[in-house]
Amino acid sequence: MALKIWMNTGLVDESEAKLSVFDHGLLYGDGVFEGIRVYGGVVFEHEAHIDRLFDSARAIRLAMPMGKDELRAAVETTVKANAIEDGYIRLIITRGVGTLGLNPFLCRDSGLIIIADKIQLYPEEFYENGMKVVSATTVRNHPLALSPKIKSLNYLNNIVAKIEALDNDVPEAIMYNHLGYVAEATGDNVFIVQKGVILSPPPEAGGLGGITRDVVIRLARNEGYEVLERNLTRYDLYTCDELFLTGTAAEVIGVVEIDKRTIGDGKPGPITRLLRERFYSHARGENR
Ligand code: PMP
Repeated sequence: MALKIWMNTGLVDESEAKLSVFDHGLLYGDGVFEGIRVYGGVVFEHEAHIDRLFDSARAIRLAMPMGKDELRAAVETTVKANAIEDGYIRLIITRGVGTLGLNPFLCRDSGLIIIADKIQLYPEEFYENGMKVVSATTVRNHPLALSPKIKSLNYLNNIVAKIEALDNDVPEAIMYNHLGYVAEATGDNVFIVQKGVILSPPPEAGGLGGITRDVVIRLARNEGYEVLERNLTRYDLYTCDELFLTGTAAEVIGVVEIDKRTIGDGKPGPITRLLRERFYSHARGENR
């Protein structure tokens, strides 16, 4: 069935949802976005996603086409118009139509696109048996050059690392920062478990401030686990008891091999499985 897409001021048919070739979102990757889940018709962590989007926009001096409440309402309208019970929302703000030059201030109005669709998850087998990853040689963007907290339309740094993963026949790559510390995966945040303690790189290491990450940290602390933000090295990943990734699309997923080294006993560990379960039922409102 053709989707209804929100374009700027209202819903249009998918076939009408078109953008100018002069939109700087296309010409320069000049824009910001969010990926958001819908569980049981409810937009998950809606406020946190809208807040992050506004922060991303503010950081690049991108004018938002509407206020937070109005934007939330537009997202809800798009979800309902497509009868999405369980799905994925892509919320995009582009700099808008401008000239061929860089100058963002010559662009007319910012563009707003909201797509609500079904989601393609990793195969169930990955959740049960765990995933394999490699270390990317592509260094994550220097956090002082362009803050990775800005969820921008330019994902080339991550895409080049993703290609390294795919070339190695694995679905994900771990990215390290300019100092050699773990930053994040190409589309997910990284956690390890070491002697019962849960560790994740601090935001300064150069990862996105993941919303799933925040929720998982809260859930883990509720379970009585100590969660610490620590710089992690490749050695830490090679020697940890458990390794898992978090993200909007992946939720919580165990990693059982990195660079051909088996993690733990080669199966998703007990803490990974517990947090996956807790996250799964939390997101679907089973414990509310
Ligand atoms: N890092 C990157 C680079 C991402 O693209 C994502 C997915 N949006 C994440 C981490 C995870 O963030 P979140 O939990 O907010 O989806």
